[in-house]
Formats: sequence, structure tokens, C-alpha cells
Amino acid sequence: LRVAGNGAQPSGTHWALFPIPNKAEAMSGSNARVPADGAAAGTAIAAFRLGIAPRLVFAFLAVTALAIAANLIAEHGSSIIETTRLRTIEKVWNTQTVVARPAPRQRAAGLDAGGVLARLDETERAARARIEANSALTSADLDNDQKELQRLAALLWHPVEGATGAERSSRPPALFATYQNDIGAAVHLADQRRERIEGYRAVLDSLGTRVKGAVDQSFKIFGRVLARESLIDLSRALEDTRAEASALGTSASDDGATLAALAASESRFKSTLERSESALKRSQGEWWVADLRAGVVGLASGRDALASTVDGLAGALARLSADRDELAARARQRAATAVERPAPTPAATAPVELPPRLVTQTELPESAPIERRVIPVPPSAEDVRARHWVQWVTVAVLLSMLAMSVSTIVSIVRPVRRMIEATRRLSSGVSVQVPRGGIKELDELAAAFNAMAEQVAASRDVTRAHHQKLEERVQERTRALKHLAEHDALTQLPNRRRLFARLKDALAESVVSGGRVGIYFLDLDNFKNVNDSLGHGFGDRVLQSVAQRLQEITDSYGFAARLGGDEFTIVYPGAPDSEAVIEAGHAICRAFQQPLRVGERELNMSVSVGISIYPDHEKNADALLRAADAALFRAKALGRNRLSVYSPEFVRTALSKFSIEQGLRRAIEHGEFALVYQPQVSLRTLEATSVEALLRWRTRSGKLLGPSAFLGVAEESGLIMEISTWVLRTAVAQAAEWYHGEWPAVRVAINVSPRQLGGPEFVDELGILLAEHRLPPESIELELTENVLQTGAATIDVLRRLRTSGIAIALDDFGAGYSSLSSLELLPLSRVKLDRSLIAGIDTSAGSRAIASAIMGLCENLSLEVTAEGIERPEQLALLGRERGVHAQGFLLAHPCADEQLLAVLAALPSHMRTLLGSEEPTAEAELASTPANVVRFGPR
Ligand code: C2E
Ligand code: CA
Ligand code: CA
Repeated sequence: LRVAGNGAQPSGTHWALFPIPNKAEAMSGSNARVPADGAAAGTAIAAFRLGIAPRLVFAFLAVTALAIAANLIAEHGSSIIETTRLRTIEKVWNTQTVVARPAPRQRAAGLDAGGVLARLDETERAARARIEANSALTSADLDNDQKELQRLAALLWHPVEGATGAERSSRPPALFATYQNDIGAAVHLADQRRERIEGYRAVLDSLGTRVKGAVDQSFKIFGRVLARESLIDLSRALEDTRAEASALGTSASDDGATLAALAASESRFKSTLERSESALKRSQGEWWVADLRAGVVGLASGRDALASTVDGLAGALARLSADRDELAARARQRAATAVERPAPTPAATAPVELPPRLVTQTELPESAPIERRVIPVPPSAEDVRARHWVQWVTVAVLLSMLAMSVSTIVSIVRPVRRMIEATRRLSSGVSVQVPRGGIKELDELAAAFNAMAEQVAASRDVTRAHHQKLEERVQERTRALKHLAEHDALTQLPNRRRLFARLKDALAESVVSGGRVGIYFLDLDNFKNVNDSLGHGFGDRVLQSVAQRLQEITDSYGFAARLGGDEFTIVYPGAPDSEAVIEAGHAICRAFQQPLRVGERELNMSVSVGISIYPDHEKNADALLRAADAALFRAKALGRNRLSVYSPEFVRTALSKFSIEQGLRRAIEHGEFALVYQPQVSLRTLEATSVEALLRWRTRSGKLLGPSAFLGVAEESGLIMEISTWVLRTAVAQAAEWYHGEWPAVRVAINVSPRQLGGPEFVDELGILLAEHRLPPESIELELTENVLQTGAATIDVLRRLRTSGIAIALDDFGAGYSSLSSLELLPLSRVKLDRSLIAGIDTSAGSRAIASAIMGLCENLSLEVTAEGIERPEQLALLGRERGVHAQGFLLAHPCADEQLLAVLAALPSHMRTLLGSEEPTAEAELASTPANVVRFGPR
């Protein structure tokens, strides 16, 4: 359903119900979804519609913003993590518990060994404090103790009154000086150790700063994920090292283990560096990595130096203890040897332990001895808040990114899909309109598409109409062509192809119904003559007329077809039995006894019919037609106007045209031809005035064939000329024999074909022949049929010359089929031979009698002799007998016989004639003349 917009709608904007409704349409559930102001709304939408370009720009800007945000988040998030970590470590470093050392015990002084021993302990403790921390307090403390020790030692070794020997010694042992030196060395080493720790840490710090700087920086460079991760790894390894390093200096005894741990940490850092060296070189540069490597080397050498200092310090402290023990032993010895001792000075007070408290380093007095302890610090509330913020922002960014992507994709993909679907439908021939909307360009595309679809639909209508017209014409032509292909152009009867198709159908039906199918092969007798004498145009009209008659005949039971020439076929499907088929055949023959009307003319045209019957004779169409053809061949062989039903032996006996032709050639060569002679009897004298020479072919198998069996083939093949020459020579020779012998009044009638007459040489040749045999021209009569008229004036001229030379000329077969009275006038005739068909009915039909009588009267008036042919019954003869000048010829009078029997037959004829005419009883001679046995007696001369 397509709803056009209102009049105000701008061109190119169409609203239509698209076959696939979009979501809004589907939800509205309304068929007429177009609002009245649809056009205005469409325009408004179009006005505010974003184009693909702005949309993509917008999308990419958004994506860029999102990318920046994501980068920020990444940077900020990791810096939060990093600073949290670093700050935690920082705090661990800065917030140390410092336990205030108890205030130095009160110095004790004494003159005995006890004072020296106490001071030794005191000095040692001060030395260790000084070793632990270099401050004014510890330095002063140690200095005091050392001076006090010196003083007390001097007191102890002060010369005592009355003492002797060693007791008189007034100098403390040199070991005291060594001890003092040892303290100095230990203090120096301790200071050196502290320095080296500081140095080591400085290197660590500088590495830390470098790595942290890189970490901070790397997050600002979007996309360098690998470098950042390796940096964080580095940073972590470094932090671990720094954490290990924080244990340095807390106690001299632990340094060994700490240094081992540091070595391990360093190597971890180093291997991390090496692992990601190439990535770091790419992201940070060669120099940066080289610096880091130098730092690593610095760390190792610092640590080595520190280790040697630590070792030295340990050695110095061990010496110090040994020296102190020795000194203590000397002091005890000295005291034991002393005679008198001064009273001890008040004893030093015991040191007081102060409670530990948490202080910051800055709070600590510089000289305060400190004890470091690592305390884990939980993240601050601020850190937690920052982390949550980052998480929320991340979620929001991801969601908006998703929404943006989906909406962009949908806004492009949906209209494009619709367009694709519409194109597909359009190509399959459906009229479509795409709904408008969406991105500007796609909306314009939809509008353009709709315009195109409309045009396509319009042109499709035009094409369809055109196509339909074309189709109709093609169908019409096809029908015409089919008709042409299946029908004979001249008669409009089905042709061979159609005949086969219909015959096959009929056979198939008969298989089911069990009925018979009759196949008739028809051949028009003498059609060739019609064609030759009256022209092909007339022949065609004859054929049309024949076709019409055949259609009339077969209308009620079957159909007729034309196979070509004058051959027709009739099919009688569904015949109840064989008798019905044969009866229909007779009906066909009977139908042709009525003359055909061709234009103004009426024409007697008889047919020969061959019949085959399904399934009695053959089973398939081909074989049935062949069988009918064989039957026709037999019918023709029997004479005109015949019907023959197929019998299997026909195929064996019937000679094909080809074999006939071959046989004729052989017959000419081997002289297989013979002539028989049939008398023509004058009804006035009852004597034979002439004999007609009739051709016979005695085949090698001994069969005697009449001309109808082979003359057609001889004509077609041209062999007729040779045969005719032979006939002429033989007949003239035979006539000469009789003329010069027992029958000087001989006249032999010779049948001549128009073709034979065609050449002008014919007259000369005949003249020479007659001269050769010394035969007068009156002994020869030439019989020819009317179609000689067709061959033209030249032939007629030949006839005139023949007539002038004294040769008689008879018009043969007058009244057969068609005849023209004008030929009686046009041709130089001496005789007319009335055809058998004209005579056949004179004794039974008054009409036939009247016609025959009229023609005979006419001929008499024209001074033409008349011969009535084919007299078979005495009644015919009796009717003719009343006509005085007429001649008769027929089996009743005499059968054609061999030349050697002829004279006997002729001698018997008059009495036979009298018998026939009822004027005399039959005699033996007459019997001889009329019996057909004389034909049988025909044999080689
Ligand atoms: P046609 O010239 O009309 O010859 C007469 C035919 O009628 C002969 O047949 C003859 O045997 C036959 N006939 C005679 N009396 C009777 C009768 O009482 N009843 C019936 N049913 N038939 C009778 P044939 O010999 O078979 O010759 C047939 C045709 O062949 C001849 O018809 C003639 O047109 C042609 N023909 C015969 N010999 C020659 C020939 O040497 N040259 C040429 N060109 N044609 C020949
Ligand atoms: Ca004849
Ligand atoms: Ca004849």
C-alpha cells in the first residue's frame, strides 16, 4: 500500500508503507500510518538530520575524548596506585620508632681496679654508642670516658709508697694506648659504614627518581603499554631493593644478611632491566637505559665497599673486646699487687631505661640514638575515595562508549539493511518503497531509491505490456508455424509428421480400448496425366478438391492426410472390427465414382486404395503405413479403381520401386519384354481390323507382369524411352512379318507415350523403320492419350506429319477421368477409343448409355472411327452392335495373346462374334477366341 503525500509535499519525498515495518510502525499497529502532516514532519526531520560526515566526526571526537579520558584514568589510576605504594614506603621510612637511649650512667671513679674496670665497660659502651651514632653527645661521652679511663688507669698505676719491683711501676701498660687507637679505628669504620650506606641509598634514590619519573611520564604517552608495564616491574624491583636497604645500619651484626638480600634484589632489578631492555630502549631511549645500567654497577660497587667496611668494623670491634678483656685482667692484677689503695670515689649510678615512644625523625635530637622498626601503614581515606572515583568514571566511560558505538552502528546499518532488502525485492519484481529517515545521506539515498523504484515499476509495466504483445505474436506465429509444420500447404490436410503423431495417439488409444485402427493409402489413378495435360495449376486444384472430398468422407470417423504428390492417407481410429475398416475403404472408392468439381470442370478421378489394420497386420505406425503402401502397390498392380487389403505376402511379392527399376534395366539388357496382341473387331464385318500391341514383362522368376506394374517406374526413371523404342521396333517387325506373310491387311496399334513423341526425330525414325521393313504406313496406328495436348504445338505438328504420311492416330482412353471434346478437334485423329470406364455402365445405366451413344454419334459426325474398349459382357456388345461403324475390344471378344497364336485367334473371331451377338451357336473356334487360356499359352517365341 503506497500512500502519496499531500500536495504540499516537496518532490522526491514519499511516504509509503514499507513491507518491513520498523519498530515504531510495528508498535503503532496502524496500517495507514502516514500522518496528514507526514510530509512536513519528514522535511523537519530532514532539516535536523545529521549527515554521515558530521556524525562520524562527532563519533570520532567522542571516541577521542573517551580515549583521552581513558588515558587520564589509566595515568591517574596508576599514579594513585604508584603514589600509594611510594607514599606507604615513604611513611615506613619516615615514621620510625625511636627509642630514647637511657641517659649515661653516672660516672664512677675509684683508685682501685674496680674503677678502671667499670670505666672500661663504660668506655666500651660509649664507643659502641659512638659507633652507632655520630653525634656531639656520643663523641663527648666517649671522649669523657676515654679521659676518665686514662685518669683512673694513671691512678691505678701511680707509684705506691713502699712498693717494690713491678709495683713500683708508675706507668699504665701500652695496651691502654692501643685500646684507645682501636676505639678510634672502630669509630672511623663505623662512620665510613654510615657514609657508604648513605652513598648506596643515594644511588638507589637516584635510580628510584629516574624510574619513577619514567613511570610518571610513560602514562602520558597513550598506547605504550609494554613500556609502562616493564617500568612498573622495574619500579617494583627497585622498591624491593629500597625496602631491603632500609634494614641497613640498624644493627652492625645484621648487615651481612641484609647485604646478601640486597645482592639478590639488585640482581632481580638487573634482570628485569635486561628483560625489558629493548622495549625500554624504544620507549625511554638508549641513554636512559645506559644510565640505569651504570646505576646498577654503582649499586654493586657501593655494596662491595660497604661489605668490606662492615667486615673491617666487625674485626675492629672484635679486637676492641679482646683488648678490653686484656686490660681488665691487667687492671685486676695491678690492683692485687698494690699495697695501698685510696678510698673509692662515690659509685657511678646505674643507667635508667626510658620508655620507648613514637617520634618523627625531625623531633629526634641529633644525638639521640635510634632504633628503627617497620610498621605497615593502612591506606588513607583519601586514597580510598580516589580509587572509587576512578572506578565509577571508568564504568561511566565504558558504558557511554558502548552506547555511542551501538547507536552509530545502528543508525548506519539499519537504513542500509532496509535498502538492501528493498533492492532485493525490487530485483525480484516487487514494487517497493523504502521508509525515509535516519542519517541525512541515507535518507536522501532512500528518496532516490524510491524514485528509481517508481521508474522501474513504470518501465516494468511498459515492458510487461510489450512483452505480452510480443508473446501473443510469438504464440500466433508459433501456432501458424506449427500448423505449417504439421499441415500440407496446398490442401491444409495434416502432413506426414502430423499423421504420425495422430496415428500414434490413435494406436495408444486402441491399446486401451481394444478397437481397430484402419490405415488407408490412396493414390489417384492417372493423376500424372492430369498434371501433364492440364498443367500443374489445375493439378493442384484437383488435389485440393480431392482433399476436400476426403475430409467430407472421413469427417465422421477419422481424418485424412497428404503425404505428397497424389498420395493421401486416411486413418480410421476406433473402428469396431476389420470388416468396418474394409467397408470404409469401399466407401472411399465409391465416393470417387462421383465426378470431382474443379472450377468449371467436372472430372472423373478414380483412386486406388491400400488398407492395413491395427493390430491385425502390424503394431506400430511405421509398419502399418508400410503395410498400407504395400497394399496400395498391390491395388495399383491389379488395375485402377481398386482396393486391396494388406496381406503379409505383399511385402514378399511387391517389388519396391528400386528393385523394379533394377529389374527393368536387366530386362532391357536381357530382352525380358514381350508383346501380346489384342484384336479390335469391326462390329460391321465381325472381323479384326487391327490388333493392339500390349507390353508384357516376363521376369526371371517366370512371372508375367502387365504394364501397370512397371510403366510408372519406367516413366520416372526415363527407361520408358528405351522400352518404347523396343516396343516400336518389335511391333513394326511383327506387323511386317504378318504383312509380308499371312495377313497383308494387317494393322498393329502401338501405344505411344507423349514423351516419345516429343522429339522431331520420331517421324523420321518411324519412316526409316517402316522403310526397313517395307511396311506401308497404313499398317501402323499410334494410340495416344489426351495429355499429348500438354506437350504443345510441336507435338501436335508431329502428329499432323504422321497423319499426312498415312499413319493412323487413335485417341486412347477417351472418357477416362476427364476428357475434352476440344481434343477431338485439335488433334489430327483417325480414331477415338472409348475408355473402359465409359463403357462399363452402358448395359446397366441409361445415363452411361446416352453419353457413350452421344460421343459415338459425335465421332461419326467428325468422321472418326470409334473403338469401344473393355467389352466384358455380351450385353455391352449387344448394345454396341446396333451402332454400325463401331469397333470393339475386350476380354469378351479376345484376350491379348502371343503373336504366334494371333492368326488362329483372328480366324476364329467372326464365328465367335456371331455367337456373342446371338446370331449363331458357339463353335469350337469361337471358344478358342474367347478363352483366356490363350494368354496362359503365351510363351517365349
Ligand atoms: P490401354 O492402352 O487402354 O490398353 C488396354 C488395356 O485393357 C490392356 O491392359 C488390356 O489387357 C486391357 N483390356 C482389354 N480388354 C479388357 C477387358 O475386357 N476388360 C479389362 N478389364 N481390361 C481389358 P494392359 O495390357 O495391362 O495395359 C495397360 C495399359 O498400359 C494400356 O492401357 C496402355 O495404356 C499401357 N500400355 C500397354 N502396352 C504399352 C506399350 O507398349 N507402350 C506404352 N506406352 N503403354 C502401354
Ligand atoms: Ca491403348
Ligand atoms: Ca485404352
